[in-house]
Formats: sequence, C-alpha cells, structure tokens
Amino acid sequence: MPAPRPRKALDGIPLYRAGKPALTEEHKLSSNENPYAPLPGVMERAAAELGRMNRYPDAGMTALYGALSERLGLSAEHFAAGTGSVAVLFSLLTAHLEAGDEIVYAWRSFEAYPIAVDLTGATTVRVPLRADATHDLDAMADAVTERTKVVLVCTPNNPTGPVVTADELERFLDRVPDHVLVVVDEAYVEFVGDPDAAKGLDALAGHDNVVVLRTFSKAYGLAGLRVGYAIARPEVAESIRKATAPFTVTDVAQAAALASLDAQDALDERVAAIVRERGAMVEALRAQGWDVPRTEANFVWLPLGEHALDFATACDPVSVRPFAGEGVRISVGTPAVNAQLIELAGAWRSARG
Ligand code: PMP
Repeated sequence: MPAPRPRKALDGIPLYRAGKPALTEEHKLSSNENPYAPLPGVMERAAAELGRMNRYPDAGMTALYGALSERLGLSAEHFAAGTGSVAVLFSLLTAHLEAGDEIVYAWRSFEAYPIAVDLTGATTVRVPLRADATHDLDAMADAVTERTKVVLVCTPNNPTGPVVTADELERFLDRVPDHVLVVVDEAYVEFVGDPDAAKGLDALAGHDNVVVLRTFSKAYGLAGLRVGYAIARPEVAESIRKATAPFTVTDVAQAAALASLDAQDALDERVAAIVRERGAMVEALRAQGWDVPRTEANFVWLPLGEHALDFATACDPVSVRPFAGEGVRISVGTPAVNAQLIELAGAWRSARG
C-alpha cells in the first residue's frame, strides 16, 4: 500500500527556523522580540478572559476591529486579523495565488515569505537588495509580468533594517498594474523615525491594490499571544478572512491587543527607549569598524558574509540570528545585554585584526 503523501508543493519547503533559546530570555536577541514585560493593563484584561476558556472566541473580532477602525480612521471591513501577521500573510497568499501565478519580493527578506509562497504552488521571483541593503523597487517593478499577482514589500526590511521611502513606493505603485496586490509588510513600523519613510496607510489611501500588514508581536510585545492584521480595501480584507480557519485569535489574545492599544503612552515610551538603544548600538558597532546598514527597526544587521555562523557562535551566551553566507541579525534588547553584545562583537573583530 502506498503511504499517504503530502502535496508535491511541500517538497523542498523547509520548516520555519525559530530563533534559538538563550542562556536567559534576556539574552535572546534572535527573534526581534520586545524585551519588556506586557504593557500596563494587559495582563489583567487577558487574564480576565481565561475563565471563559470553555467558550469559543469572538470570531468576528468585533471589539478589535472596532478599536483598530477608530484608531486608524477606516471602517471595520478594512481589517482582517489572524494569529500573527505571518498567518494573515499565509491566508492572503492562499486566497490570491495558485500554480502558474508569480509573486515578486526582495531578497534577502523575511524567511517566512518563501514558505508561504511555495505552499501555494506559485512561482517566486526574487529581486536582490541593493548594496546598501535597501529594496530596489525599480528592479522589482521591472520584474512584474502579466503573470504577477502579488508583490511583497517589507519595510523596514527584515533582516537588514532599511525602509523604502514614500517617494520610491509611490513611483512603484504608479508603475504596477492595479490588479497586482502590493503587500506592504509593516511589522516594525512603530520603530520607524525616518520622516521620508513610506507609510502603508498613505499608500492604501491612494491605491486600492495595497495591503498593509501589521502586528502586535514587536512594539506591542505580544509575540507569544499571536495577533496580527491586514488593512486593505474591503473586498481584499474579506478574501483574507475567507481563507482563514475559523476561531483563530483567542479572546485572551484579543483582550491583550485591545488593552495594548489603550496603553499608547507607555507604548510610546518603550518604543522611544528601544529606538535610543538601537541608535547607541549602531553607533558603537560602527565605531568598531562594522558596516551596519541604516536600520529603522528593532534590530541591526551585520553583513558578515561567510563569517556569519562563526560570529553567531562567538556571541554565546547571547543568541543572535545568523543567515549562513550572508550576515547576522541582532535584535535590540535590554541595555545590559546590548552592552554585552557590543563587547563580544568588538572582541570578535579585534581577534581578526
Ligand atoms: N513580517 C515580518 C517582516 C516579520 O519580521 C515578522 C516577524 N518575524 C512578521 C511579519 C510576523 O510577525 P507575527 O506573525 O508575529 O505577527
């Protein structure tokens, strides 16, 4: 009897590699997590939902969509939430891609993209980042063909850090046909300080084919509860909701997301602290001689090439994220662990002259 076999599309799809555990959670700078405890009020409101675990969650996510709608000035039909923005992306691509279609994205970028795409059977067209680790949106527009259904734009780009500018994105959207969905992945948007940076919502206001992806995992510090969402025109948002399994985001997670939205002042303070630490880290690493690309996210990128794995090993007990042959991504953590990392990076460099 032949054994059950998964779809051919699964051949060659790697399992997603999560950041390695570290000596302590504080030493884990490998997953772009927020080093701070939950925002004020979050634990209480999430815990209050635990006693109702015999009930299914609010599948319509009424309160969450209502709060986002009020916050962002778009009606509730513009939102589609899921268990992290990565799950929302899987639903979006499931809804819009099939074998024979093409999708364009920059590379190196977020490593979940190829997994999500390959599951659909669509064909990936990767456009290399420019030498300064930024998206080459002109080359990406050139790569769009009549088969292209989706383009992914990751800004700030994971793992390298730079943003695309508003002008670049506008020029790109003007060149791309209206039936091509342009996904602007803003997982790290809260950390962006560059006034010239593209804003997904502004792009959506002018172009119906834009989808913005956001998450509560990074700045809001809810990575473990899994809440992310898309903002898109209502037909697109509905396509994502249709392609999502029922009852994904728990009431505990919905309550935590709502409480986080209510803690705006505390959020701003934390983001400011992380951005300050990021600046100090970049400055210290550059002073050691590292070629650190400009970063607008909660991580920095060291383009180490063939030395990536060696450097990551040398960072022990701090856990960082190596990309073999390319570089190492280091999340901004607490001041103490950032200082430890900077020292290790300096020692690694001087050991090599
Ligand atoms: N997009 C990008 C660019 C990311 O780096 C991440 C997290 N690593 C995500 C999306 C997904 O985040 P989550 O699923 O936790 O919302």
